[in-house]
Amino acid sequence: MAEDRDAVAEIGVIGGSGFYSFLDDVAELEVATPYGPPSDKLVVGTVGEGAKARRVAFLPRHGRGHHLPPHGINYRANLWALRSLGVRRVLGPCAVGGLRADHGPGTLVVPDQLVDRTSGRAQTFFDGVARGDGRVPQVVHTAFADPYCPEGRRAALGAAQDWPAGRTVDGGTLVVIEGPRFSTRAESRWYAAQGWSVVGMTGHPEAVLARELGLCYTSVNLVTDLDAGVEAGEGVTHEEVMRVFASNVAALRELLFAVIANLPESRGCACGAALDGLTTGLPELDG
Ligand SMILES: [Zn+2]
Repeated sequence: MAEDRDAVAEIGVIGGSGFYSFLDDVAELEVATPYGPPSDKLVVGTVGEGAKARRVAFLPRHGRGHHLPPHGINYRANLWALRSLGVRRVLGPCAVGGLRADHGPGTLVVPDQLVDRTSGRAQTFFDGVARGDGRVPQVVHTAFADPYCPEGRRAALGAAQDWPAGRTVDGGTLVVIEGPRFSTRAESRWYAAQGWSVVGMTGHPEAVLARELGLCYTSVNLVTDLDAGVEAGEGVTHEEVMRVFASNVAALRELLFAVIANLPESRGCACGAALDGLTTGLPELDG
């Protein structure tokens, strides 16, 4: 890729093992970061053929076997590890609950905004606290008004035109809660009353950490259930979420591969300029 000739991958996907398990040329890489280990080994493979082939790094967000809870994921290590491989664009598929009656299971939402309702997660590289290697980052503030990459969103929506499992929604607000429990009915009704579209547990701080590294980040939300305040039944269950996600994983994989094919080879967005004019004190970013 133009931006990094030594890159082993240009695109990163943070999602489950269902996305790469059938690729036949994958290499597993153990990547160390100044923030500790990422969720698991990264798997690098080629998606597409010929002139359309793209090198993609996959990272299972919850680790293989889904052993990391949303608040226990080392988001900083995950984003850092991807960037250190040369990744400049990140796709973040995740399961979410629908906050509107017309966002039922199977709906695909490509949000354009997020609301952070998490607590206690490390959500910046620029905290002024010495890293493991002794480097002390400066305290700097990055723009985050529009959290998602416009080119990535366009690529996702273009690919989602043929989404088979339900309808596709262009835009909306993803509210990210701490979890791992699901929302109460009161919380869920409150989120819906704000006009927010979907609720998840992992979209933050993934998005802001990508921005702090100058990476493009695109959130792709698969609705697995209607949240507790929207439906009259028993509320969300873990089994229901897993079942709906599993039944859509093949379609989601096809969709992501189409998104990857749609991504322009060079970046025309402003995501990479997030640190322009700032001094972070971290040699990897100030270089
Ligand atoms: Zn971008």
